[in-house]
Amino acid sequence: MSLPPELEKVIELTRTHNRWRRFECINLIASENVMSPLAEAAYLTDMMHRYAEGKPRRRYYQGNVYTDEVELLVMDLMGKLLKVMYVEPRPVSGTVANAVVFRVLANPGDRALIAPVQAGAHVSHTKFGTLGALGIEHLELPFDLDSWNVDVDRAVRMIEELKPKFVTLGASVYLFPHPTKEIAAAAHSVGAKVVHDVAHVLGLIAGNRWPNPIHEGADVATSSTHKTFPGPQGGVVFTDDEEMYKQVSRYVFPWFVSNHHLHRLPAMAVTAIEMTHFGEQYADQIVRNSRAFAEALAEEGFKVLAEHLGYTMSHTIVVDVRPHGGGAKVAKILEDANIIVNKNLLPWDPPEAVRDPSGIRLGTQEMTRFGMKEDDFRYLARLIREVAIDGRDPGEVRKKVVEFRKNFLEVKYGFDVPKHLEESPIKIPMLL
Ligand SMILES: *Cc1c(COP(=O)(O)O)cnc(C)c1O
Repeated sequence: MSLPPELEKVIELTRTHNRWRRFECINLIASENVMSPLAEAAYLTDMMHRYAEGKPRRRYYQGNVYTDEVELLVMDLMGKLLKVMYVEPRPVSGTVANAVVFRVLANPGDRALIAPVQAGAHVSHTKFGTLGALGIEHLELPFDLDSWNVDVDRAVRMIEELKPKFVTLGASVYLFPHPTKEIAAAAHSVGAKVVHDVAHVLGLIAGNRWPNPIHEGADVATSSTHKTFPGPQGGVVFTDDEEMYKQVSRYVFPWFVSNHHLHRLPAMAVTAIEMTHFGEQYADQIVRNSRAFAEALAEEGFKVLAEHLGYTMSHTIVVDVRPHGGGAKVAKILEDANIIVNKNLLPWDPPEAVRDPSGIRLGTQEMTRFGMKEDDFRYLARLIREVAIDGRDPGEVRKKVVEFRKNFLEVKYGFDVPKHLEESPIKIPMLL
């Protein structure tokens, strides 16, 4: 029987996406990454079909003899990698991890202070997102453009005055570490807890290129597991506080997840092991690449933000592209050239500018993982200039991008897939 046309269509769309994004584009979305082939192999398993409500060895379902051990292994590996006592890997995303922790720390009607939205606080930290869904009020800490950071003095006064239930730090435009120590001291003096959301920088923390907020006084940290940390899409909570961990675990299930997408777990374990072996090298190269890329973009004529601070200490760079037509236009023409970035609000943009903000955000983590070094990012800065400043035809530049990408198809900083795994009786054809 020939395939129904809708089926042909699904297959074709998926294959086209895979080929385009994996072989022909340069991906600079700061919140994305790819797993290693071994982690991908560990992801596509029977575990994707199973349930395991509850904690390992205390499940509500039978059939978890081995998934229990994998989950315990993930907790152990991630704990050692991040040098913390307790890891809760069941939240299925960073947003769910935040929901759990916010609900542990506050009741509907309570108040939280959050990192400035201007400085890239995530929508889940706000009353427009998860916090709002939980009925928790938010007030923003003040932002200081000069230091591209939370304005510490004013923030401390605000915390002492308002006595919130908790304070969040961490952001989605995260160029420089937030002042965890100072904020934690102020928060603790009024009985408030500090949640630090490290979704963007977990891989840099694992590679010792970014401060671990738990070691700087934060009570609990939340994260995604798929941004600079190149694991499966998912979430995690970690802490050194046993009571906090126990409460988080009690709230994850039954309040926020039922099944926790078990196939994430072996892939997360593989990624944690890779990061243990290659994390420092990888994180170091990310930061070097960001600096080189930012400098090169500035030399090509772009207004890269935070120049006076050395542009960035993370994987992220922000560029003001108003002189070149604004964020929406520049992001679109770069996409036409197969360079994938996102438009982004800059600190002075009003919230309603979200559809056409002043900036674009670029991340070096994924292309670093595919082996790009400083000189490669310098070449990329030139291609971006050709499209966004020189007004070259994006279709012409696209040809150069596709050619360039051919040098960076293999994921580095991981182990090879062992030969015996290639003889699996379950054949999973990749839709490539
Ligand atoms: C991406 C992000 C999240 C949300 O993570 P998901 O896994 O997409 O739900 C939360 N917080 C911050 C700071 C983020 O950047």
